[in-house]
Amino acid sequence: MADIKTIDDANFAGKRVLVRVDFNAPVGDDGAVSDDTRLRAALPTINKLIGDGARVILTSHRGRPAGTGYEEPFSLGPIARRLQELLDRDIVLSSELVGPVARETVDAMENGDVVLLENIRFDAREKKNDPEFARELADLADAYVNDAFGTAHRAHASTAGVAEFLPSYAGYLMEREVATLTGMLDEPKRPFVAILGGSKVSDKIKVIDALLDKADTLIIGGGMCFTFLLAQGKSVGTSLKEEDWVERAAAMTEKARERGVSLLLPVDVVAADAFANDARTEIVSVDDMPADMMGLDIGPETAELYAEAIAMAKSVFWNGPMGVFEMPAFEAGTKRVAEAVAANEAADTIIGGGDSVAAVNQFDLADQMTFISTGGGASMELVQGEALPGVEALR
Ligand code: ADP
Ligand code: MG
Repeated sequence: MADIKTIDDANFAGKRVLVRVDFNAPVGDDGAVSDDTRLRAALPTINKLIGDGARVILTSHRGRPAGTGYEEPFSLGPIARRLQELLDRDIVLSSELVGPVARETVDAMENGDVVLLENIRFDAREKKNDPEFARELADLADAYVNDAFGTAHRAHASTAGVAEFLPSYAGYLMEREVATLTGMLDEPKRPFVAILGGSKVSDKIKVIDALLDKADTLIIGGGMCFTFLLAQGKSVGTSLKEEDWVERAAAMTEKARERGVSLLLPVDVVAADAFANDARTEIVSVDDMPADMMGLDIGPETAELYAEAIAMAKSVFWNGPMGVFEMPAFEAGTKRVAEAVAANEAADTIIGGGDSVAAVNQFDLADQMTFISTGGGASMELVQGEALPGVEALR
C-alpha cells in the first residue's frame, strides 16, 4: 500500500468527495435491507469524511440492471433508508448519476452532507469503463475515494476510470483488505496452512497454484477433492468430478511434492445416494467408494486430521467449504474445520469467499476469526497474484 494514498493522508474539509462503496446488499420482500454488513463496512470511511467536513457523494451498484436507466427492483432507495438510520442523518438520493441535475444536487450540499447517487449501473457506460462517463462523474467532485474492495477486480468507470481525473485515495475498508491479504501472502507466519474447498477444481486452479508457492500445508476438501482423488487412481462414484482436470490435479500434486508442501486429501467421506439432505448416507474410506454414491462431505477421520494440522498453524487462509454445508446432513466437516480455525488463537486466520464466509456465519464463529474478507471474487484474484484494477487505479 506504500504507493497508494489513503484518506488519512488528507483533510477533506469543504471538499466534494466521490466515494465508491459496495452497497450491493440484499433487500427482502418488505423492501428493507436484510443484511447490512456491507453498509456497516463502509461506515468508518464515511464517518471520517463527514468528520473532516467533506461533502460526501456516495456511489455504488446493486444487482445487475440492464443499463437502460431506472429500474425499481435495482434502486438504491432501500439502501438510502438503511444508511440514514446507520448514520443518523438525512441522505439525499440523487436519481441523476451525472449531468446538470446531479451537479445542482451536489452544488446544494453543505459541509458534512451526504448524497447517494442512484445505482451506477443504470448507465451502461459504467461497466464499459467509458472515459466520457468517468469524466462526467469526476466533474461532480474534487477528490475520489475507493472503498469498494468487493468490486476492485472490475475495471468500471466508478471503480477505476474516474481515478484518472481526480486526486484518488483508498478508503479504510479497501486499505485493510489489501494490507491484510497481501501481508499474509508476502510474509505469512509459519506454518502457513491453506484450506481450499468449494465445488470445482476448475474454479480454483489458479488459487491452488498460487498457494502451493506460499503455504507449508495445503488442505483440500469440498467437491474439488474428488478430481484430486481421481488423479491418485481412486474411484469416486458419482461424486462431483472434472475428468478434464485430472491431469492438472496430478500436476498440482507433483508440484506440492517438489516444493515440500504437505498436501492433505480426504481419507474418508460422507457418501450419499442422492444430492439431498434426506439421502441415505454412509461413511466410507476413499478406497471403498461405492460406484452409485457421491461424496458430499469429508468424513470424521479426515476432519480430525485436518483439525490437527490447523491447530499447528501460525497462519491460516481458508476458501471454500469442505462439503455441502447448506444441508445439515453434510455440514459436519465444514463445521469441524471452522471450529479448529476459530480455536487456534495463536494464528492469523483469514477467511475469503462468499460461501466460506456464509458457513462461518452459520456456525456463529465469525468473531473468532482474525479477518473475514468482504470481497469474494476480489480476494481470490488478489490471492492468485493478479493486479486489481480498482487498486491499480489508485497508484
Ligand atoms: P466460496 O464461495 O467460499 O469461494 P465455492 O463457491 O467455491 O466457495 O463453493 C461453495 C459450494 O461448494 C457450496 O455451495 C457447497 O455446497 C459446494 N460443495 C462443497 N462440497 C461439495 C461436494 N462434495 N459436492 C458438491 N458440492 C460441494
Ligand atoms: Mg461461492
